[in-house]
Amino acid sequence: MSSFSDFGLLPTILDALAREGYDTPTPIQSQAIPHVLAGRDLCGIAQTGTGKTAAFALPILQRLSQQPARAARGTCRVLVLGPTRELASQIAQSFKSYGGRLPLSTAVVFGGVPLGAQQRQLAHGVDILVATPGRLLDLIDRRALSLSGVQILVLDEADRMLDLGFIHALKRIVKMLPRQRQTLLFSATMPRTIAALSEDYLNDPVKVVVTPPATTVERVDQAVTFVPSERKRELLATLLHGQNFERVLVFTRTKHGADKVVRHLSQAGIDSAAIHGNKSQPQRERALAGFRAGHTRVLVATDIASRGIDVEGVSHVVNFELPNVPEDYVHRIGRTARAGAAGSAISLCSDEERPYLRDIEKLTRVPIPVVAAPAAMRLAANPPARRAPEHPAPQPRRGAPQQARGGRQGRGTERPKHASNGNRHHDMAVAADPRPAFLRRPPQGNSRPNPRGNQQGKSTFQPVRP
Ligand code: AMP
Repeated sequence: MSSFSDFGLLPTILDALAREGYDTPTPIQSQAIPHVLAGRDLCGIAQTGTGKTAAFALPILQRLSQQPARAARGTCRVLVLGPTRELASQIAQSFKSYGGRLPLSTAVVFGGVPLGAQQRQLAHGVDILVATPGRLLDLIDRRALSLSGVQILVLDEADRMLDLGFIHALKRIVKMLPRQRQTLLFSATMPRTIAALSEDYLNDPVKVVVTPPATTVERVDQAVTFVPSERKRELLATLLHGQNFERVLVFTRTKHGADKVVRHLSQAGIDSAAIHGNKSQPQRERALAGFRAGHTRVLVATDIASRGIDVEGVSHVVNFELPNVPEDYVHRIGRTARAGAAGSAISLCSDEERPYLRDIEKLTRVPIPVVAAPAAMRLAANPPARRAPEHPAPQPRRGAPQQARGGRQGRGTERPKHASNGNRHHDMAVAADPRPAFLRRPPQGNSRPNPRGNQQGKSTFQPVRP
């Protein structure tokens, strides 16, 4: 389907999409919407950023509108479960944006805030309830909600819900649902546990797979710098002083680590905010709102807190620490390639983290170009004036491919076997703008500039010395 009107959606919904500026359905929307409208169960393998929320929200709004029966007191007609408060809020917001002019009610419930207001909201019954599993069970245990009227269940980011240990909560919840229902499951990955969940909870589902991780990865300009742990702070501060780091997400593995980074940045005169599970809901919302509005240039986040964060115009992702789960790397750098835009990601990798880097490259099948830390710091500190190369760039060997090790490769290009082995330290070639790509302003939109006129027109990195 090349247009939203082809789905036969209600004019009110089409108007809302026009207001949102959506012209064409994304692949997950084209593939999922007709099946969901037809009442089929669906298992969608898609990550945040593919438009998966609208892929389930639009047909659900349409189906609910076609069955005008109201929800009974203390019940809901649609239950959407997601792993984090941020994701739950964003899903509820999407339902409100797309269905705001329909006579349907939407509520969102998650932990970390008082129960009372949520209880009162549910008392009259709601059409669409978006919830995190723990808080949902609290409300059920307090008899504020019954799931006996649920007609459609959505499990969003199911893999992350399992990672976070929600499996028992999910099992309890699903037992309380009517057997006769429509179930939609979305997951970024398809490990065996998710396949089993799909088998247990879905009935003859349609399977839709979009955007394998490597596709997102290829849209982002990546670099890795090897740097001892104790020098990371200094390097981070230097990078962030660079003008091109306009809106930056910095990732740490732990909550404690995120707070430490914020403190160190503050000492270096850089304003930042942290977002992680130990922060209260209002603190998290404030940090996110400040970042969205551009008041806070740097947001320091842990993987869990960042899931589902949808902020446009993130210019750079900095992995202060590499994730130990390789899929998280893909999610992290995907924050800077939202809705088709391209961005840059730089990873600061200590010696102890090299195994994580190997796992990431194995998953994405894209070698991450290496830039030397001293060069990165010097260049970040200096304005982008023309500078003579410190090491004369070698002439390419005759017959050698332009994209040698470390360069990004075009989709479907075979990666050389030795691509990420051997000595990874090398300096960068100096072109018109001597800084590595991650220090330059990221290109806007889908088209990427091709400053070197290289074969694929994609890589902005070129290692100098093998
Ligand atoms: P999601 O994967 O649901 O988190 O969506 C990622 C982003 O894409 C959100 O900012 C949506 O507003 C946006 N989006 C979703 N569908 C479309 C579409 N068809 N055209 C343009 N943007 C879209």
